[in-house]
Amino acid sequence: MRPNYLFALFLLLSLSACDNTLQHEAGSDANGHTAPTAVTIKANQAVLDKRPFSNIDDFEDAKKGLIAQDKSLITTDNDGNIIWDMPSYDFVDFKGNDGAAPSSVNPSLWRQASLNNIHGLFKVSEGIYQLRGYDLANMTIIEGDSGWILVDPLTAKETADKALNFAQKHLGEKPIVAVIYTHSHIDHFGGIEGILANMSEAEHKKLRIIAPKGFMQEATSENIIAGIAMGRRASYMYGRSLSRNERGHVGTGLGKSPAFGRFSLLSPTETVAETGTTLNIDGVPFEFQYVPDSEAPAEMTFYLPEHKAFCGAEMLSRTMHNLYTLRGAKVRDANLWSSYIEEAKTLFADSEIYFGSHHWPIWGKNNIQTFLTQQSDTYKYIHDQSVRLFNNGYTPNEIAEEVVLPQSLNTAFHNQGYYGTVKHNAKAVYQAYLGWYTANPAKLDPLPETQAAKRYMEMMGGVENVVEKAQTAFDKAANVSVEEGIQTYRWLAELLNHAVFAHPNNAPAKGLLAKVYDQLGYQAESAPWRDVYLTGAYELRSGAPENGIDMAIMEGVLLKTPVDNFFDSMAVRLNGPKAEGKKITIKIVFTDLNESYLLTLNNSVLRHKKVAMTAQANATLNLTQPLLVDIITGKAGIKDTLFGDDLSVDGSKLDLISFFSFLDKPKGNFNIVSP
Ligand SMILES: [Zn+2]
Repeated sequence: MRPNYLFALFLLLSLSACDNTLQHEAGSDANGHTAPTAVTIKANQAVLDKRPFSNIDDFEDAKKGLIAQDKSLITTDNDGNIIWDMPSYDFVDFKGNDGAAPSSVNPSLWRQASLNNIHGLFKVSEGIYQLRGYDLANMTIIEGDSGWILVDPLTAKETADKALNFAQKHLGEKPIVAVIYTHSHIDHFGGIEGILANMSEAEHKKLRIIAPKGFMQEATSENIIAGIAMGRRASYMYGRSLSRNERGHVGTGLGKSPAFGRFSLLSPTETVAETGTTLNIDGVPFEFQYVPDSEAPAEMTFYLPEHKAFCGAEMLSRTMHNLYTLRGAKVRDANLWSSYIEEAKTLFADSEIYFGSHHWPIWGKNNIQTFLTQQSDTYKYIHDQSVRLFNNGYTPNEIAEEVVLPQSLNTAFHNQGYYGTVKHNAKAVYQAYLGWYTANPAKLDPLPETQAAKRYMEMMGGVENVVEKAQTAFDKAANVSVEEGIQTYRWLAELLNHAVFAHPNNAPAKGLLAKVYDQLGYQAESAPWRDVYLTGAYELRSGAPENGIDMAIMEGVLLKTPVDNFFDSMAVRLNGPKAEGKKITIKIVFTDLNESYLLTLNNSVLRHKKVAMTAQANATLNLTQPLLVDIITGKAGIKDTLFGDDLSVDGSKLDLISFFSFLDKPKGNFNIVSP
């Protein structure tokens, strides 16, 4: 190709790249987020009358017992990348009890985000300390006879290391004698390596690690099969591409944000399998409550009788939690969850102090009992009312509109939907019992989004006509009642989504949909809803990210994952149509584990089973488990590895290469707001 052709091609490519990004309109911020409209300003103002903002007890509790605070709390990884940045949230500053907030943020969310900004090392009571604001979750430190007992070592190696060092500096250097994982979510165990980094080998050998039964299975399996889609969806839920400012991300409701550092995992040395289990940990008596399939599939709470202190893990928090989480997960059992909280109310009725895996503590027996009752009744109310309504024929959308907490529950800030919401939790109850189908035949076999969208546009007189009418409705919405304005934005989101799916390059349709999403985001009381809408707006203007989440951060967890799970995750990557008519058997021999597995491809289905070393196959791959992890995370390319020294192949290399060519390699950056 001649150079001028190359130049022309380059120009063409760069022009078409520009086509994907939208011109920002006047008054937008650097990411294109538009100003709040008059009706959004009114809607956010109206929130001031709905919540008891003059009650500032939470602020007093969140600041109580502060020992020390690192004003410039920034954590970096080995390469100097910032993975935790508290000062970036300094703009979130709730100015007292009048509820004032920027007009582009729901005042109730602004209040919650301000509470979650309060960070440092806190004394909860004699012998109980908490590090808050060092990561999404809290790390609690309990003083034993000879050392420290750590509860929940955060998400990342780097943040855990930073938090522990800060605590040791102010509380004194003592050996770490035990670590407790309250549950199987990564923000409560992923930082364990950062704790180990501060321990001698002798200390490590004696270290007790205590977790609920089923912890390892759940910690390693929850994300491996569906992890790629969950990761992409989580980037919406947590607003990963958003700037931290008044028109962007302000927090997650549960805390500030997840820390994307190095994740790690160390197996427990002992597990708690039933409620009533008591343990003496370094001279401190513990009473456990086993609460599986509540907020997490493996979870436990505990009581410290000598301190009269109850740790509710994440079964309780200072927000309504998720029965369904927007990143995508199996729905949770509202009834069971509520019943565990009821059980805790009786079991630990003497509690004078409550603390959890997120947010700030509560002091006083009555306050704790009230908190437990309100949280427990909230989940049960949503459960019972959703079931009542679907038994009366209501659909999920109708139920979400209908269920409102009774006033007696709705006045408490900790019952508000800063993380979960009544609306999406009510739909989760429907899903748990009845699934996705509403029984309406029109919903049984609809056309996929793009096909339906094209027909909608055609019948509605073409996309230009639709956008013009949508623009008129959008302009009109600014000056109507709050209720009507919100309904118009929700309707326009649906309408313009059809326009964009039918005509993904139509800039006016994309631009107007982005503006609608801005307004819905600014009005949301839930942090994930805000982040979801604003990320949608951001990607309509700037496109989807170039890369998905780097699997390398998961290496520490994958190394502890049972090999069975890898084969399950391999099976769900098999491209069925591509593998049509192929029959191949591959034996994988793990030279380090002394185990071998036979993978069988037949009928476009991939199965695996453990076999004897002598089993026959078309090809045999001899390798170590860490090398397999490197291949999975992309650290080692399969083709280079096949011809390298770290691995050996017996039998047909061609069969092996063709086998691997049938596996999809999803990049994890698929489109969401456009087809
Ligand atoms: Zn958590």
